[in-house]
Amino acid sequence: MGKEKVLITGAAGFLGSHLCDRFLKEGYEVIGMDNLITGSMDNIAHLMNREDFEFYHHDVTKYVHIPGELKYILHFASPASPIDYLKIPIQTLKVGAHGTHNLLGLAKDKKARILVASTSEVYGDPLVHPQTEEYYGNVNPIGPRGVYDEAKRFMESITMAYHTYHDLETRIIRIFNTYGPRMRLNDGRVLPAFIGQALRGEDLTVFGDGSQTRSFCYVDDLVEGIYRLLLSDYAKPVNIGNPDEITISEFAEEIIKLTGTSQKVIYKDLPQDDPKQRKPDITKAKELLGWTPKVDRVDGLKITYEYFKSLDREKLFQTEHKDFEKYSKK
Ligand code: UDP
Repeated sequence: MGKEKVLITGAAGFLGSHLCDRFLKEGYEVIGMDNLITGSMDNIAHLMNREDFEFYHHDVTKYVHIPGELKYILHFASPASPIDYLKIPIQTLKVGAHGTHNLLGLAKDKKARILVASTSEVYGDPLVHPQTEEYYGNVNPIGPRGVYDEAKRFMESITMAYHTYHDLETRIIRIFNTYGPRMRLNDGRVLPAFIGQALRGEDLTVFGDGSQTRSFCYVDDLVEGIYRLLLSDYAKPVNIGNPDEITISEFAEEIIKLTGTSQKVIYKDLPQDDPKQRKPDITKAKELLGWTPKVDRVDGLKITYEYFKSLDREKLFQTEHKDFEKYSKK
């Protein structure tokens, strides 16, 4: 008998590429799919010669065809940074909505189990802290983040509908801020922004007064949580993230210490609807999956910094779209 097959969408992205590595390591045959709008072939170049890996350059908002059997589908295709939502809002909506619908249809056809990547953004700017899975959220549907938040909320909704109406085996993970090697250097997210600024000798830009909080999870911990959730029998959403909460000002100080930069912090306007606080309640993940994050931020940040340092210097200066203002004004 051949190996069991897994389809991973968003395979050339930060999380997708780490998932490809993990499922290959677990002995599966992996089909990676990506339209490369935000993903990069650099992330999966090391897999391209493998017999057990196949890459499909395809946009999941178009009909998805896969020959033969499929055991699992992991839907990780989506822009995932606030600047992406401003720059490509329609694609962001379509991949969460049409893309998810196509993959659910594929899962039904193949009798495959599907795990979809939802997000802490479904909680919006949360009024409950820390966020439990039972909290319905505080989302502005027409704000700049609405295209992502509502697409992901729709994703959860249609996934549950396929589960209850078609008896499909579904899993929903709500991912909190995650970091690690292969993050896009210039996608505007806070960690690559700060490290990129330190490496270029620029000041670190803290948005607002820096009192907003986030809780950062190292990618290997997240991947372990995804793997365990997929193999579990729990169909409702599960938070996976590191509850170690920190303000963005403190985070900037940590990056200054890590990189040894002599630059300082400068303050810029807070983007609209930027959540003031975010921290996962991971009781469910602990109880259902026996999962807790293992990697301390100090250690995870060191590894991530080494990765960014290893990139071509030229890449450091490609300012793809680091400019919030440029995309928020029309
Ligand atoms: N942020 C910042 N400076 C930057 C980029 C981001 O202060 O150069 C802030 C941003 O306003 C937010 C936090 O860092 O409060 C995390 O932003 P990110 O875009 O990484 O993710 P989010 O959790 O907001 O989706």
